[in-house]
Amino acid sequence: MATTPRGLRSCSVHEHLERMPRSINTLGDARDSGQELVAICDEIRCRHRWIIDLDHVLKFVGTGHSLTPVGGERHFSERIRCPACRGRGAFIWMRHMADPEPLLVGLSYSVNRWDTKGSRALLEVAAKATSEIVANAAYDSAVGHYPGDHLTLQQRARIIRDSRVQLIRGGKVG
Ligand SMILES: [Zn+2]
Repeated sequence: MATTPRGLRSCSVHEHLERMPRSINTLGDARDSGQELVAICDEIRCRHRWIIDLDHVLKFVGTGHSLTPVGGERHFSERIRCPACRGRGAFIWMRHMADPEPLLVGLSYSVNRWDTKGSRALLEVAAKATSEIVANAAYDSAVGHYPGDHLTLQQRARIIRDSRVQLIRGGKVG
């Protein structure tokens, strides 16, 4: 299984909620503070979404494992296996277990721009919107503004449109 020289081929941890505490740096912190981690399969034709069994992951990587990828270290998000397609690798999202959808109900759609060179990290949230129609317009304009970049239109973690999927249309999509 290939990794890049710096071991950075993995996911990003999207800071889903702005008011998420900044002190959460490790998987142990996440568990202790009740953060729920959501994984989205790396495989574009799968995109299965599931809640990570944190206790299970901790058994393998330990509580000190960094939540975000660290240069030179293999990150758990690379190794995690999708229960739907059995492929390895996932994007990791965070949300607060005690209050899963607080305050952001009005801004559930986002247009995200992802790194395409190795790290696959979230580069920016290009837009947030309450309306799916507005969000679609923002997505279209982001695709024009960042030609060739990997963009997704999402309702929270659910991927509605994916610029890379359009490029391979003709395959099994949707
Ligand atoms: Zn999958």
